[in-house]
Amino acid sequence: MCSKKIGPLREQYSIKDFHSERVSPPLNFTDDHRTCATCFNQLKIVEKYAKDDVEQDKKERFEDLKSRVDQYKPMWDKNGVIQYKDEFVAILQRAWGVQVEFIIAYSDLTKDGYQLMAIDEGKSGGQSSGGFTGGVNSYYYFQKIQYVK
Ligand SMILES: [Zn+2]
Repeated sequence: MCSKKIGPLREQYSIKDFHSERVSPPLNFTDDHRTCATCFNQLKIVEKYAKDDVEQDKKERFEDLKSRVDQYKPMWDKNGVIQYKDEFVAILQRAWGVQVEFIIAYSDLTKDGYQLMAIDEGKSGGQSSGGFTGGVNSYYYFQKIQYVK
């Protein structure tokens, strides 16, 4: 990589060293290729920083989500038939005892141009529903059609 004359065997790094130290080898690095210690450590450091960057990005993305919770919470109704709705997405909750309300909300969303994208059946059984099965909440995820690609 640095075109420096490579030193004795113990200062050479082969594909095996890359694997054992979990460093990504350079492009087109074959079994016959070797790098010097300097290049190997350079790659190792670069990779470490890249990994740190990824972790930092994840942290920042989550912090961003957290910082916007208060802004979105007013549209959130944990136990509501319309559990969440904004101009892009909506989540309906189907629960025991509110079937007709659920149908009305479903109809309204369809009329307003939302399309059902996914259904989460929720946990089956669980909760003390007094032997009643199938009545556990399920969730319906909608997206406004104009935003569906
Ligand atoms: Zn080198």
